[in-house]
Amino acid sequence: MATNPFLETLSFVVIDIEDPRFEIHELQPDGHRALFAKTHFQAGAVIRSFGSSQTMTQPDRYTVQTAAADRHIILDPEFLLYINHNCRPNVFFDLRTMQLRAVAPIHEGDELTFFYPSTEWSMSEAFDCHCGSAHCLGRIQGAAHLDDDTLKSYDLSDHIKDLLWLRKLEQRKAR
Ligand SMILES: [Zn+2]
Repeated sequence: MATNPFLETLSFVVIDIEDPRFEIHELQPDGHRALFAKTHFQAGAVIRSFGSSQTMTQPDRYTVQTAAADRHIILDPEFLLYINHNCRPNVFFDLRTMQLRAVAPIHEGDELTFFYPSTEWSMSEAFDCHCGSAHCLGRIQGAAHLDDDTLKSYDLSDHIKDLLWLRKLEQRKAR
């Protein structure tokens, strides 16, 4: 999988977690964390189920949006929080089944990444993506800031699909 060549030159420390199939890499010296696989997962495989330790009405950098109305959760287990964004993701948070699913083959040593706009409509903290994917979208701010054509190649949560449908209706009305 494509990675940021700049990040590859930095050193990191490995943090073991309760699930031996994964480990956290913490970049030095900035402390940025990422989740890596220690085993192989086939595309389509259910990696594990998840829940929420907290529900909030406002998003922040650690929450995942779960409904069109402002409903945002802190993931449980907590290490899932370190799954970063990639424009070519290898996992998807399926909020219908509350299961984390592989959407591409994941090999031992790969970073787990998901597509933030698959759950986030409008993010509290936008950022410039440097995922290195040939289809990198650059500025990531949530699905509200992307057009339907860009989004159609991704797995999207139901609430994002609903909001896209509403957006389309509004656009039609405005015409
Ligand atoms: Zn990108």
